[in-house]
Amino acid sequence: MPTPIQIATELAIPDGPLLAILAHPDDELLFAGKAAATKYARQRVRFASLTMGEAGLAGPETNSRALGHIRSAELRYASRILGADPPVIFDFPDGSLTPDHTRKYADALSEVVDHEQPARMLRLPPNGLTLHPDHIEASRAALIAFNEAAPPGCELWEPVATSGWRELDLDEFMYSGELEVPGHDELVVSWTVGEPFLEQKMDAYRAHASQGESLRHLHPVAGIEAYRLVARKS
Ligand SMILES: [Zn+2]
Repeated sequence: MPTPIQIATELAIPDGPLLAILAHPDDELLFAGKAAATKYARQRVRFASLTMGEAGLAGPETNSRALGHIRSAELRYASRILGADPPVIFDFPDGSLTPDHTRKYADALSEVVDHEQPARMLRLPPNGLTLHPDHIEASRAALIAFNEAAPPGCELWEPVATSGWRELDLDEFMYSGELEVPGHDELVVSWTVGEPFLEQKMDAYRAHASQGESLRHLHPVAGIEAYRLVARKS
């Protein structure tokens, strides 16, 4: 199995605001260490989620409308833990983001990008990391918003699964198909989420209490975040 090239260097902190685009409220966790470190370096951080997460795991008494509000509140709480500004949460339908409406999602995100003037954006990768169709759609819309609204010099990054992910039991977590781990010829910046950021990240995990069961799969890989650079705005 090829091992990705991992540069043991910190992904530098952006010289300005960080904006991370999510499909669901708990996708925040994929970027949480980097978000906490960015805030620590006195740069603003904001998450923008396309959905309220109403199609997620729910208790027996919880209807989907209530769940959307619960999960939105969880993202607001997690944002506070990480020092991020209050998140922007759209109410596009969770579980039903579709290529037919990419333009609508991109327009909504472009407004956020225009408002935030980020120095760096984070998006889900084109395969969504978990192959979830909502993730794939959020990834596509984020790229359009980046191209259309990001200021000059803004960088777009996306997380990649590292070899440690292969050890995880991701059966329920993966939408369908195989986890993609970068090949040996790919340039991946791997960053160790050290203290105190790891502690903040784990607290943010706990903030998504309604989704706790599915998120526990990610705990073993929480200490490493790996990213690839997608584009830099000229
Ligand atoms: Zn998600």
